[in-house]
Amino acid sequence: MKKKNNFAKDFIKKQYAELILFNLIAFFAILILLGVLAITSINNTFFNSIKKDIIVAEENIKESLEYSAESDRLIVRNNNNARIMMIFYTNDEVFRYYSSNLLSYVIEDYDRFSRINDGILGPEDYFDQNLWDEYINAVAIAEENSIFRIDTNNLDNYVEFETVTNGNQEYTFITRGFSMYHKNVPPVKYVKILVMVNGEVNSRDEIVRIYILSAILMILTGAIASIILSITAMRPIIETLNKQMVFVSDASHELRTPLAIVQSKLENILTKSNLTVYDVSEDIAISLKEVARLNKLTTDLLQLAKSDSSRDKIAFENVNLTQIVRETSAIFKETAALHKKEFLLELEEVNAFVDRNKMTQLLIVILDNALRYTNEGDEIRVSLTTVNNDFHLEIMDTGIGISEETKKHIFERFYREDKARSRETGGNGLGLAIAKTIVEEHMGKISADHHKPKGTKISIVIPKRLKNQ
Ligand code: ATP
Ligand code: MG
Repeated sequence: MKKKNNFAKDFIKKQYAELILFNLIAFFAILILLGVLAITSINNTFFNSIKKDIIVAEENIKESLEYSAESDRLIVRNNNNARIMMIFYTNDEVFRYYSSNLLSYVIEDYDRFSRINDGILGPEDYFDQNLWDEYINAVAIAEENSIFRIDTNNLDNYVEFETVTNGNQEYTFITRGFSMYHKNVPPVKYVKILVMVNGEVNSRDEIVRIYILSAILMILTGAIASIILSITAMRPIIETLNKQMVFVSDASHELRTPLAIVQSKLENILTKSNLTVYDVSEDIAISLKEVARLNKLTTDLLQLAKSDSSRDKIAFENVNLTQIVRETSAIFKETAALHKKEFLLELEEVNAFVDRNKMTQLLIVILDNALRYTNEGDEIRVSLTTVNNDFHLEIMDTGIGISEETKKHIFERFYREDKARSRETGGNGLGLAIAKTIVEEHMGKISADHHKPKGTKISIVIPKRLKNQ
């Protein structure tokens, strides 16, 4: 029995873990999916318009070549987009011309070179040798930065992202290179267009950071929620499972006792094979009593199992309840008289939409108890009344009564106030459990209480639900 319960507990724990894990995985999957969607759409909105700008700039440059055809120089039309920067490369892929503001990402003190327009030095710039030297130096630094080079194997593609570091400052660019040819400017072979996207990258990273943070928070809350959810979802299952385990082990225990008695009595008879039937009649009588008990027990168990699995069909019909109570009581009335007990009926005329057989069975269970747990001179009273749309059935006795503890457990399966005493009186502790299922099948309520000044009162309230026929 202990082992079985441990098995049940392990099983439940496993189910628990599986449920929580499943919930968490589902939660993770949703968050990851959402994250991927969010980040993709952020990337698209942030960088797609920049890529469009780059294409426009590329078209502008190609158009400029037409203008340049008449001139001996390449004239790049202003594309009115301050964010666009470009580098022109010669055949030998050495850069020759670049937007001056590109230098500002590489050179610490760009202001000093602001006079140097578009990176092209005019003769008037030679006046300050120091400035010139510094400028040459700065350009050398710039040329060392890989962003000033072009990857001719990757033309006509966007490069996300190329970076320039200056001190602890990092600049990020989207770039795109393409090849170019014009007879008037034959040295120019390639062009690279650059757009600095630090702002976008920072905002995107910030959004991703916030998303990851809130995702972690959500996963934490999700984990807690899924644990709470699984506990609430599992609780009724655990309770049912536990009840079932207890029921099965109690049932087998109850079945074992009479079987053991019968076996020992039969063995006893076998060892006394020289005796007559009369001599062993007591053993036979006890065996028969136990067999009868087994019979009742299995019938009761079957009945409970049936209503548990809802396989028990209930035949509802309009029934004269008063008549049922009167007829069922008749048998008990005789037994009561035999044992010098008073048996009183106080019945109103009541009709109800119930199952006739189940009502009889319910009455038998309770009246059987009333007779079983009363002594000579006690009184048993059955009252049937109507209150609003319900009927009230009360069975009161002035018998041995029940303890506070019993009151709490009286409807539980196999519960008996005093197991030894009940065994003598022949009970299995299933009667009231069956009564309860019957009442519940009729959408009613059953309760047990002390009867004043002594004894027990069982009260049943069931809706009449009369149907027009
Ligand atoms: P059986 O399954 O044969 O009915 P039982 O009478 O022991 O066995 P229940 O009818 O379920 O089982 O009752 C459970 C217990 O409640 C009884 O064993 C008894 O201790 C107590 N009990 C029930 N009815 C009364 C009553 N009218 N007076 C005193 N005790 C009662
Ligand atoms: Mg009983």
